[in-house]
Amino acid sequence: MGIGEIGGAGAKRRGVILDRDGTLIDVVRDEETGAITTAFHPDHIRLLPGVEEGLALLAHAGFVLAIATNQPGPAKGHFGRGAVERTNRALVERLAERGIPIASVAVCMHHPDGGPGGDPLLVGPCDCRKPKPGLVVQLIDELGLAPEATWIVGDTASDVEAGRGAGIHTGLIFAPNRCELCPLRPEPSGAEGVQTGAETGQLVSRLTIDPHLTKHSSLPDVTGATLLEVARKIVASPC
Ligand SMILES: [Mg+2]
Ligand SMILES: [Zn+2]
Repeated sequence: MGIGEIGGAGAKRRGVILDRDGTLIDVVRDEETGAITTAFHPDHIRLLPGVEEGLALLAHAGFVLAIATNQPGPAKGHFGRGAVERTNRALVERLAERGIPIASVAVCMHHPDGGPGGDPLLVGPCDCRKPKPGLVVQLIDELGLAPEATWIVGDTASDVEAGRGAGIHTGLIFAPNRCELCPLRPEPSGAEGVQTGAETGQLVSRLTIDPHLTKHSSLPDVTGATLLEVARKIVASPC
């Protein structure tokens, strides 16, 4: 029963699971100190270029939208769980006001090492912190998504790896002014970052040659400079 069963392809519940920081919203820059943090208050929310249009395109194409985000701030003692939850709720409301439904938000607040004043219950290894696939698997189960018809979209190799681990398709947003908090890959000290001005082609070649990534087959299926570009490729994909 239900319209989902009418027609072959229509029976699949398609989904797009989105990273939050650097994918949907920008990081927060303190003008005076130059410090950069992730958003931890509703007032911090700044949608990145192409996000509204990209999400609308995906929603109209029939994709269920969800968010999977690592938020280690409470484990590190930077801010509390309530700050994360309020901020996420405000983001969902902001998008709903624009006609974009977010079906669920899955959050990992753990951190392997924690920090001064961090919640000890959140410190230590877990199965949900990306690049592990736990958050993605949780959303697939909760929302009844068909993995073969579901994507993850993020701005780091960690997002791509989490999607690969869960057996879904992967999209990577790579903009020249990408999130400084999210290096594309774990860097040995002294290695140059990829934050500055690299183009998608260069990025893909870096992903290709990075032994950590190739070990996990983490090349993204699609890339683009904005969420809108990635969304267009997802909608055009046969998956
Ligand atoms: Mg990110
Ligand atoms: Zn976790």
